[in-house]
Amino acid sequence: MTISEKVAYLKGLADGLAIDTEKSKEGKLIHEIIGILEEIGMSIEDLEEATVALGEEIDAVSDDLSDVEDVVFDEDEEDDDEDFFTVECPTCGKELVVDEDALVEGMIQCPGCGDTFALDLSDEEDEEDEDEKE
Ligand SMILES: [Zn+2]
Repeated sequence: MTISEKVAYLKGLADGLAIDTEKSKEGKLIHEIIGILEEIGMSIEDLEEATVALGEEIDAVSDDLSDVEDVVFDEDEEDDDEDFFTVECPTCGKELVVDEDALVEGMIQCPGCGDTFALDLSDEEDEEDEDEKE
């Protein structure tokens, strides 16, 4: 039951009592109180509708801001990371860029010393992330 519905119910009760709103001071008071309650009920319903609309607008702004943040913050920091990462050659220490082919094979050949070694992807990725933060 909404506040307006409750007020309408009150009004019905008052009508049922056949309260004299002209001659009876108490009847006039009750009539005025119910009138004010009706206004309050309508004001609250308007406020509730406005609040829901505001909430929806804030959600939309929040989504838009999220899109903007993705573009502003992710482009520089993560683009390189997603495309490739590097490992250190265990033989000569040269930094090697791991491309897609190397990822698929799980092996990489060092162009520096010609050594071929297996990629330990989980460990190397973790070290890579830590390096980037420092
Ligand atoms: Zn090497």
